[in-house]
Amino acid sequence: MRFCFESVVAGSIAEGARLEIEQPEALGWCSACQQLMHIEQRFEVCAHCGHFPLEIRQGEQMRIKYLEVL
Ligand SMILES: [Zn+2]
Repeated sequence: MRFCFESVVAGSIAEGARLEIEQPEALGWCSACQQLMHIEQRFEVCAHCGHFPLEIRQGEQMRIKYLEVL
């Protein structure tokens, strides 16, 4: 079954999807200065005012999906 899955995934859309999931584009929302910004790590301070923590608006769900793939 495992061998089957790898054969099917190789060269298919799923192969490209996995690459995309490994480098999710994360967005953080600062509630203090109301700005949306790209973040590199999950725990990052606001680039504008230094507020912490930022609300994760994008990227979190991608990570969960990645765990499901494994
Ligand atoms: Zn801020």
